[in-house]
Amino acid sequence: MKILVINAGSSSLKYQFMESEGGEVFAKGLCERIGIDGRLTHKVPGREDVKQEIPMPTHSEAIQAVLDIMVDPEKGVIKSTDEIAAVGHRVLHGGMAFTESCIIDDKCIEAIKKCIPLGPLHNPANLMGIEACQKIMPKTPQVAVFDTAFHMTMPPKAYIYAIPYEYYEKDDVRRYGFHGTSHRYVSARAIDMLGNPEHSKVICCHLGNGSSLSAVVDGKCVDTTMGLGPLAGFPMGTRSGDVDATILEYLMGRYGYDIKEMLNILNKKSGVLGISGVSSDFRDLDEAAAKGNERAQLALDKFVYEVKKFIGAYATAMGGVDAIVFTAGIGENSKELRADICEGLAYMGIQMDKEKNNVRGKEADVSADGSKVKIFVIPTNEELMIAMDTAALCK
Ligand code: AMP
Repeated sequence: MKILVINAGSSSLKYQFMESEGGEVFAKGLCERIGIDGRLTHKVPGREDVKQEIPMPTHSEAIQAVLDIMVDPEKGVIKSTDEIAAVGHRVLHGGMAFTESCIIDDKCIEAIKKCIPLGPLHNPANLMGIEACQKIMPKTPQVAVFDTAFHMTMPPKAYIYAIPYEYYEKDDVRRYGFHGTSHRYVSARAIDMLGNPEHSKVICCHLGNGSSLSAVVDGKCVDTTMGLGPLAGFPMGTRSGDVDATILEYLMGRYGYDIKEMLNILNKKSGVLGISGVSSDFRDLDEAAAKGNERAQLALDKFVYEVKKFIGAYATAMGGVDAIVFTAGIGENSKELRADICEGLAYMGIQMDKEKNNVRGKEADVSADGSKVKIFVIPTNEELMIAMDTAALCK
């Protein structure tokens, strides 16, 4: 089935038009500066990229621009928008309402709206993308695929926070986790690469600008590092990961920050950027550290140390581990960070083959012969998962 996958942000919208079976991508692109002026980048494999400035006061004009270029006789890939069988939308927060993907109807939209307090930055933008598609393609079925859904199999002991229980009961405060579509895709691929054993224990390391780990037993998530929101876990590009809440009170008192300013610091100015003062991009940190920048090295060391600690924690939580998966920008591309993370874990049966680890952006088994635990590099493909879910629900 030919599916249009949409990932709508507040001022941007990514799209990918693809085949749900096999994952062939016919066209993909990005609308930027929605609500400001509007820019479209459209890519078709084997052709030159198209860049256009098109007014995009709202997400509706952005979707219209995408559809227009898709049917353009020269730049397009289809004759009519009728060739789009369905649209799959990435939605950040499904709260407790969504344990799997669902067809978008009034009930689903209401439930996504109810999750806005849990995902205040992303859910409204995701809804704008959905509403724009409904307006412009009213007859085309739409599906919502949630970043949180894969993690809904976590047991209560993993998702409950040790604060008064009433906040869970009355206010839905619990660990939700994110990057679920990525964790679902790479854990399923890992189980495949393990030879589809009846039982499996996999740790997925999604290491990108935002990062999270998940522990997956027999294909079901049992724990993950992100929490109620994506700020939790270990240090990321600009997010702090878990911090002692006392720091908030201390700094807010000292500098007179309100909670918004404090959260902006933790979301945008922390992580490896905060420690290094150099960059949130690991390539810049590698370069700076190689030139002797000690804080850049400290940021890298902190990142590796915290990922290692979660690997140990999740192996213990699952009572063992069969495979560790590296995915996303850092996990797929940085052989150095993969090697540093696996360094010294031979006592757990985790042994990397340095030669095999010399890969970038493609699926590979990089474990040493005889390593008890397999180490896989698996490029994530959230769009394919969204397309597959959409096709399955629209058949
Ligand atoms: P993502 O959020 O998955 O797109 O990942 C983006 C991040 O991946 C960038 O900010 C970089 O920090 C990181 N990255 C990409 N390529 C490399 C590389 N070759 N070495 C180290 N980090 C990389």
